[in-house]
Amino acid sequence: MRSGLVDFHCHLDLYPDHAAAVERCERDGVFTLTVTTTPKAWPRNHELASATRHVRAALGLHPQLVAERAHEIALWEELLPQTRYVGEVGLDAGPRFYKSFETQKEVFARVLSLCAVAGDKIVTTHSVRATKVVLDMIEQHMPPPHGRVVLHWFTGTAAEAKRAVDLGCYFSVNADMLNNDKRAAITKSLPLDRVLTETDGPFTQTDARPATPSDVWITVESLARLHGLPPSELSATILRNLKSVLSN
Ligand code: MN
Repeated sequence: MRSGLVDFHCHLDLYPDHAAAVERCERDGVFTLTVTTTPKAWPRNHELASATRHVRAALGLHPQLVAERAHEIALWEELLPQTRYVGEVGLDAGPRFYKSFETQKEVFARVLSLCAVAGDKIVTTHSVRATKVVLDMIEQHMPPPHGRVVLHWFTGTAAEAKRAVDLGCYFSVNADMLNNDKRAAITKSLPLDRVLTETDGPFTQTDARPATPSDVWITVESLARLHGLPPSELSATILRNLKSVLSN
């Protein structure tokens, strides 16, 4: 087992045994950011993560849940002072969620504005079919240095990637972003000092079962191959990037 891996976007509370999933990260030494999809899930996630060295919990309100749960933004706001980590938040303009898109934008604007006021938040952000609007909103509501955005599972164009870099964003990369040539080419264009790794487990698969944070080594190896670097060097770069994300 390799230690010092980074899974910067995972849903530990969505595995059958939440506490055991947290313990595995701790045992394997995987630095894991466990995101929440509703602020109601925060207390338990925070409690379990607080007892560890390697796991941190993020406070979220998932854009796919905004249609039913937009009112939970009040609870989200109340809990925000308890953490530096925010997510999963963002926008989803996919066909199943498009009807709540205007409400999603209101919620996300509120999230970014409050994070900007706080000044030191790290926000793991969903941007399905909405990269441009997400970037517009970051620029408007939380430009650097008022916070740090990590774009999770980036699916935008090369030009949007460049714009995101200029806005100070980081990217958390998962195995699915490397399994076709077009996506891999865009992933390769991301500056290596802005790249983190993630699984988005349990929503991605490894060997036909839900991926767990330890499986992130597969992404480290793929990224290393993509860049022609030894995996140990790529892994050290990711750890360095984690430190820099956390540093201001
Ligand atoms: Mn997710």
